[in-house]
Amino acid sequence: MSSVRHHVSEDLLWDYHRGALPPGLRLTVATHLELCPHCRAEAGVFDAVGGALLDEIEGVELSDSALDLALARIERPGDPATSVAKPQHAFLAGFDLPDTLNAARIANRYWAAPGVWMAPIHVDDAPRGSKTFLMHVRAGMTMPEHTHRGPEVTLVLKGRFSDVYGDYSKGDIAVCSDEHCHSPAILDEDCLCLVWQQAAIVPKTWLGKLLQPFARI
Ligand SMILES: [Zn+2]
Repeated sequence: MSSVRHHVSEDLLWDYHRGALPPGLRLTVATHLELCPHCRAEAGVFDAVGGALLDEIEGVELSDSALDLALARIERPGDPATSVAKPQHAFLAGFDLPDTLNAARIANRYWAAPGVWMAPIHVDDAPRGSKTFLMHVRAGMTMPEHTHRGPEVTLVLKGRFSDVYGDYSKGDIAVCSDEHCHSPAILDEDCLCLVWQQAAIVPKTWLGKLLQPFARI
């Protein structure tokens, strides 16, 4: 049984379904769907409803098997187009990455600060200023307090972190807007996350300001 507690909102899921998300965020939502049966079922409903609406627009009568088709779609696994595994970097050995990320173009990691490495992910047609990356943070660390110039979405792939909004573990997704200010703490084990940022973060502390040019976030 899935232990995912923090899910994708219906609005975000709808935008994912209709192809309206920027590519890095699309990858992040797709990865959550691979880890989360609950949201996968919701996405299946959108697929089914969207298909039915399309049928109506085209004047095609719904068949008796529409419900069966909807249920079959609900059981559908992640996007098959992204389910192609390929060799990973040595630094990713030991991580059980979802298929979406095994198929992604992950660049070499760099150390953003002591105990923190980051690995950019190349996505086609990414809007200028947005970033998609893996971030690995050693247990027991607290990230410098920061806000955002735009939304930031973080998906936990391994380990746990907490902030003022709650605890997040594997599969959980945290959505921050430019209104939120937080300082995530990595709990008792190393934490690997997939992060999408629409724009650079805004550090709130001198340490954060000092580290930002090195972290390239
Ligand atoms: Zn979910």
